[in-house]
Amino acid sequence: MKLKSKQSKITRRQQFKLFLSIMAAFAVLFLTLGLIIFNLFQSSTYKSIDKDIRNQVVSIQKQPNMKKQVEPDPHDPNNHFNNNVNKPNPKAPFQASILVFNKKGKLLNKSSLGNRYSVLKNINLNKNNVNLKQTLVVNNMNFRSILIKVSKKNNNPMYAGNYVLIMQNIDTQIQAIENFERILIITFFLFWVIALVISYFLARINMLPIIKSWQQQTEFVNDAAHELRTPLTIIQGKLEYMLTKPNKKIIDEAEAISVSLDEVNRLNSLTNNLLVLARSDSATTNLKFELTKPEFFLKDPIVPFKDIINSQSKVFQINLNDNPTLNLDRDKIKQLLIILLDNATKYTPKNGTIKIYDQVEGSKYQFIVSDTGVGVADSDKRKIFGRFYRVDKSRNTNSGGHGLGLAIAQQIVNVHHGNIFVRDNLPHGSEFVVELPIKHH
Ligand code: ADP
Repeated sequence: MKLKSKQSKITRRQQFKLFLSIMAAFAVLFLTLGLIIFNLFQSSTYKSIDKDIRNQVVSIQKQPNMKKQVEPDPHDPNNHFNNNVNKPNPKAPFQASILVFNKKGKLLNKSSLGNRYSVLKNINLNKNNVNLKQTLVVNNMNFRSILIKVSKKNNNPMYAGNYVLIMQNIDTQIQAIENFERILIITFFLFWVIALVISYFLARINMLPIIKSWQQQTEFVNDAAHELRTPLTIIQGKLEYMLTKPNKKIIDEAEAISVSLDEVNRLNSLTNNLLVLARSDSATTNLKFELTKPEFFLKDPIVPFKDIINSQSKVFQINLNDNPTLNLDRDKIKQLLIILLDNATKYTPKNGTIKIYDQVEGSKYQFIVSDTGVGVADSDKRKIFGRFYRVDKSRNTNSGGHGLGLAIAQQIVNVHHGNIFVRDNLPHGSEFVVELPIKHH
């Protein structure tokens, strides 16, 4: 229990770390994306403003020849501000203002500015800024501007030889950029939260099998250590006892020695089994699959069992009739058979019958090891295939089991894409059914 809570604490900490790193990764991702989008938007807005200004510069510098001075110039951008009769220059944007300074910095077109003059009068001429694009702030209003020096040859006497400051109010654009920024921040924050929620659940779902197998592994190691400790303690006890009797002959302590030897044997088989399980867990076993028939992988390996089972005053019947082709590792199936037949003899009293028979069920080949022994309770029918599971611990300790045999059997069947289960053998005993896929040509 204590171990479990410690484990879940560790996994929770791991999950939290994973979550934090995902959070950071998403934040960086969204931030970069946001900055890129924002910069693109901002620069495209400024580009379009600058394009408008450039158009104005061009229209001022290339004033067409005028016939009469008195005639209002349709291309004079100032005209459409004050004079509604004239056609406005289609290229001149509505928010544009034009300030004309003479060399001394005196504002020349005061009258054409109308009520804008009160705002724009504070702007002074700075000859150093010629041809520089600038953003000016006047009375809390934002202007994108450029100062040009118009050549004396310009046909418009208003501009000729003077400095012209073209200013475009960009308050709406700045407002739009600010709005866009706000929307971007809100949307990205929202999506960041959504991405986090999704990734949290994804992380949990992905972690589940890892956590499960990790817990199983820890459990397995704990159980294995526990199983190893028991025989070791017994051997240690016996050896220490023998050390206290140094003058005795071996024959006097034969019992202690034989008990120790039994335990060593137990240790031996246990470590072998553990190795088998650990190897197949990490999938390091090389399987030798081959096409074969039951008479080779079933009949041949079980023949030697006949004598062993008979010598224990038990009956052994073989009833194999089907002969389909299967793709399997014969050594592994032999190991499986030994586990099942070993169990059948272990849990069947004298005069009992152990039988092996087969049948074909659809595309599956089944062989069944049946006995007339103690049987398996319904509640244990699934559990006995688990590692270290023993129905009756005390009895099985006497019969030398560790509860690993059926776990190995299950693994062997799994790598063959088959199935193993236990059912009752009536009136008593149990039947272990192994199902293997038939290889069709
Ligand atoms: P063990 O080494 O204890 O036999 P197994 O994994 O082979 O370990 O079996 C697990 C448990 O299943 C056994 O402890 C036993 O209780 C039960 N079991 C296995 N085979 C049989 C059988 N033929 N009849 C009754 N019980 C069985």
